[in-house]
Amino acid sequence: MAVAVGYQDKTDDQKAITEMVRQFVDKEILPTAEEYDHEDKFPEPIVEQMKELGLFGVTIPEEYGGMGLDLTTYAMIVEELSRGWISISGVVNTHFIGSYLLLKFGTDEQKEKYLPKMATGEIRAAFSLSEPECGSDVQGIKSTARKADDGFYEINGQKMWVTNGLLSGLVFVLVKTDPKAEPPYKGMTCFITEKEPGASENTGDYEGLDIPPKIKKMGYKGVESTELVYDGYRCPAENILGGEEAGLGQGFRQMMDALEVGRVNVAARGVGIAQRALELALVYSQQRRTFGKPIAAHQAIQFKLADMATKIEAARLVTMKAARMKDAGERSDLEAGMAKLLASETGKECVEEAFRIHGGYGYSKEYEIERLYRDAPLLLIGEGTSEIQRMVIGKKLLERHKI
Ligand SMILES: Cc1cc2nc3c(=O)[nH]c(=O)nc-3n(C[C@H](O)[C@H](O)[C@H](O)COP(=O)(O)OP(=O)(O)OC[C@H]3O[C@@H](n4cnc5c(N)ncnc54)[C@H](O)[C@@H]3O)c2cc1C
Repeated sequence: MAVAVGYQDKTDDQKAITEMVRQFVDKEILPTAEEYDHEDKFPEPIVEQMKELGLFGVTIPEEYGGMGLDLTTYAMIVEELSRGWISISGVVNTHFIGSYLLLKFGTDEQKEKYLPKMATGEIRAAFSLSEPECGSDVQGIKSTARKADDGFYEINGQKMWVTNGLLSGLVFVLVKTDPKAEPPYKGMTCFITEKEPGASENTGDYEGLDIPPKIKKMGYKGVESTELVYDGYRCPAENILGGEEAGLGQGFRQMMDALEVGRVNVAARGVGIAQRALELALVYSQQRRTFGKPIAAHQAIQFKLADMATKIEAARLVTMKAARMKDAGERSDLEAGMAKLLASETGKECVEEAFRIHGGYGYSKEYEIERLYRDAPLLLIGEGTSEIQRMVIGKKLLERHKI
């Protein structure tokens, strides 16, 4: 006989950590996000506090100084951070992907060298696939690494849209080591390139890596997105992810694996921003009055609130499902694609509905929803557009249901 147990969506530990992050967001991020956003300023004091809270080492094992938590708990934390400001989750996102790559594919030496400093946030990581001429079609990248006589690899090429491109100390960069390989993914390798955080021109050991001024964006401000120009940057063979013998030609596979967890992470951001939009709409709709009553008393507004809350719940559930499957070691490519698609679209839709509920004031920079309206569309693009998610979902569905 089945025994009924109370519904639990979080363990006690997960409740404790998400509550801690929620309080941090309410106290430190929400009151200051507008100012940083309007000035497009890096939120240094917030990032420093995140280091103290250990948020750069959430998924890094305790033996390397991290918290050793799973993807599910990480996704819960990301939802809370994004409820405050998605740029804050952007500061940790690429770092999280870098630590995932190291943990899954790195050599023992690479893990020992980088993970302890990454766990404390002393060095932060970026990851770089996109180029000026390609984003979705990753196999079309043009950057190369060629082995020189002294055993170093010389990296040349231009990368685009690198989140944390300037202030990071490590970039996990995908380049072609065999540009003639057929299919192209077999000739692609991931290098761990070190750089000087904050330097637009690197010198000494890191010479040959320049970072042009940050790209001016519609939203997702505060965290920098930059190009990276590799021009004769010399990288030791030991900095091939997984080592030269095991890692050469494996970069595409490694990066696609990391994108799977990256998609869960973006999905959690979609849930977080949607949740915040709902909160704002719930408050505003009870304050604003038209035709003699609060707008929340009009059924048309209640229907908007109802649809928002329902979609958020669905997006959260599918996001948690994808994360839990990954943590359980199950194949979750399809679910991660679904989570990313549903949650990012939900983020955009809920923000738009909350914006409509704010009427003319939603268009004013005095109101938080204006920032959310500029931030939400990024989630439709990063870690694969909605069209690309549909392609992934369609392909995986057919693979799983082949007749
Ligand atoms: C703020 C920001 C931060 C970013 N951060 C990073 C980062 O840290 N690292 C990184 O590597 N990249 C990053 N990116 C890049 C991002 O991953 C790409 O922008 C994204 O993958 C889309 O690539 P694209 O811009 O080249 O668009 P394209 O690939 O040129 O696509 C253009 C349009 O065509 C559609 N399309 C493309 N191919 C198909 C197809 N086969 N079928 C149907 N439709 C298709 C797309 O869905 C899209 O609508 C960032 C982007 C932004 C805006």
